[in-house]
Amino acid sequence: MIFNEEFETLPREALEALQLKRLKQVAGRVYHTVGFYKTAFDEAGITPDDISTLDDLKRLPFTAKEDLRENYPFGLFTVPMSNIVRLHASSGITGKPTVVGYTRRDIDIWSRLMARSLVAAGLTSNDIIHNAYGYGLFTGGLGVHYGAEMLGSSVIPMSGGSTKKQLMILQDFGPTAICSTPSYALYLAERGEEMGVDMRSLRLRVGILGAEPWSEKMREKIEDKLGIRALDMYGLSEVIGPGVAMECAVGRDGMHVFEDHFIVETINPETGETVPYGEEGELVFTSLTKEAFPLIRYRTGDISRLMKEPCRCGRTYTRMARISGRSDDMLIIRGVNVFPSEIESVFQGIEGLGPHYELTVDREHNLDTLEIRVEMSEDVFSDEIRILQKTEQRITKDIKDYLGVIAKVKLVGTGSLEHSEGTIQRVVDNRKI
Ligand code: ADP
Ligand code: ZN
Repeated sequence: MIFNEEFETLPREALEALQLKRLKQVAGRVYHTVGFYKTAFDEAGITPDDISTLDDLKRLPFTAKEDLRENYPFGLFTVPMSNIVRLHASSGITGKPTVVGYTRRDIDIWSRLMARSLVAAGLTSNDIIHNAYGYGLFTGGLGVHYGAEMLGSSVIPMSGGSTKKQLMILQDFGPTAICSTPSYALYLAERGEEMGVDMRSLRLRVGILGAEPWSEKMREKIEDKLGIRALDMYGLSEVIGPGVAMECAVGRDGMHVFEDHFIVETINPETGETVPYGEEGELVFTSLTKEAFPLIRYRTGDISRLMKEPCRCGRTYTRMARISGRSDDMLIIRGVNVFPSEIESVFQGIEGLGPHYELTVDREHNLDTLEIRVEMSEDVFSDEIRILQKTEQRITKDIKDYLGVIAKVKLVGTGSLEHSEGTIQRVVDNRKI
């Protein structure tokens, strides 16, 4: 089944013609309404009128997360606040989040993209969807929610946490699909087993999983433990939220990028050059139809490769392979994105702390753990355990409050951490996914 047959199966030529028309429109709009784009285009020596083929996209400047930070919070919006009906935020780089806004039409398009994604996963209006993506400033929860409603399925707005309640609802409401991070799906499965629930005999048949990297091995494990088919979904707030790309149940090999709304490119993160199809590179997206917050050549930091070969499902969109890494130092901890610099900005203001620190990420019982070890200068470093513990607790609380991440904080004396000349931070990621 295909939700928007007429768009999702457009012959490539027609799809590219549509992309070009929309690219010209969006480039013109950002150039004339947002100072940042006017300057960036002028510096690159290009105007929207110079765009005559899709290849001209390569001449447009990139947009980076730093540009979003510099225009925090609403500086890149192209419409007045009176037209914005929703705001979401994701992680920023140095303490301030990345803010995204939507008009009513944007919400409608996003819902449609999510409905397409759910249908690509084989769902219909008869399905009951257990939505365990976080609601709130994240886009995951509400994104899936609106798509499920547009499709006409029954959505359970579960959000994250409250594992026992989730298990009760999985048994009692009989959802047929679960939307969550892959690690949480596995965590639920194992907690259920421990509690004596026969997880394979639940009514669940499909998992729509994303928001963090995972592997084929993990897919097999989830499918086996829950007796479902697990499919990969990709999205990011800056581009729209979940529903940028979705793996179809038929082909189940890479995620279809909804190219009537986005242009996807892969570039060499060092040089910015386009990499050939099929080779790994950093994903770059241009949004073609968003009103409030369109983005031109946004560098996601996510590494993947693009596949052009036709898919058995009939969709003509390019597919992207699973995300294989990041071009920057962003970490995803229990589905929450964090930059080391954001963590640093939490303890930066405390006298005697830093600058050297170490982050250790691990996975215990399918849940990510984060340990932060921060060096403390000798004159402040106190042997009095109580005082140290108090400071550790305060940082733990601030990290939870500001970043939404649970961390174990440990203060250590100067010189305790391994570091070479000049390095301030070290990240050790021991997760095996
Ligand atoms: P949300 O608000 O839904 O959590 P964010 O914008 O905070 O979205 O996070 C987006 C990031 O999450 C992406 O840039 C990518 O790094 C990661 N991500 C999203 N989906 C996937 C996926 N299917 N596989 C791997 N990583 C993903
Ligand atoms: Zn397909």
